[in-house]
Amino acid sequence: MVILLFGPPGCGKGTQARLILDWFKPRIIPSISTGEMLRAEMAAKTPLGLKTQAIITAGGLVSDDIINEILCARISQPDCAEGFLLDGYPRTVEQAEYLDKLLAARGLPPPVVIHLDVPSHVLIGRMISRRQCPKCGRMFNILTDRPKVPGRCDDDDTPLIVRKDDREDVITERLKTYKEVTRAVLSHYESAQHFQISGDRSAAYIFEEITKILEGIVEGERYQGGGI
Ligand code: AMP
Repeated sequence: MVILLFGPPGCGKGTQARLILDWFKPRIIPSISTGEMLRAEMAAKTPLGLKTQAIITAGGLVSDDIINEILCARISQPDCAEGFLLDGYPRTVEQAEYLDKLLAARGLPPPVVIHLDVPSHVLIGRMISRRQCPKCGRMFNILTDRPKVPGRCDDDDTPLIVRKDDREDVITERLKTYKEVTRAVLSHYESAQHFQISGDRSAAYIFEEITKILEGIVEGERYQGGGI
């Protein structure tokens, strides 16, 4: 199964991705966040990280050629042969078309699209109170999902940071990019398995909705003799 978590920045894709992976255990499905991959490149100051850093910190989109190449390399790894979860890709119609070709070439089915829909004013409030663990990527929120020890990651005790692109001016730009470019990707998936969930709810509520969807699909695949 290929799961595509879709929605504006700050809608909770990363949090839900983490919960979904836990739900699938002991089966391991890779979670691929193009944003996390780019942040790792920036932190390591690789040529790709240095090339894309200005765009990312300004809230723009990295070019389709670059991002498609990164994605293709990642999903060509053996752990992706049976399926994977995508968070933050595709963000343009061109990327969605590219993904279609990659999946078809690998004999994988079209993605199950889970769209978390959240109004902009809620997103801004959420993003400015986000804190991230730079080591494991886990997200916290100082208002709604506080770490047990203030300022430190629950999983590995690393000091939490504010992402460079979680500043209010950059957030506004990221939301504009979503509205003007990324939202159009939804119409590309109109005929696919496509589920919309109101993301303006607690993470636990949203996760319950997602598991209902996934349970139905996994059951259906089991009935047909397929894997995840
Ligand atoms: P995210 O963590 O998914 O919010 O991504 C952070 C930033 O990385 C985005 O604001 C973009 O600048 C860049 N980025 C991540 N994924 C993509 C993508 N699929 N296409 C273009 N740019 C991306």
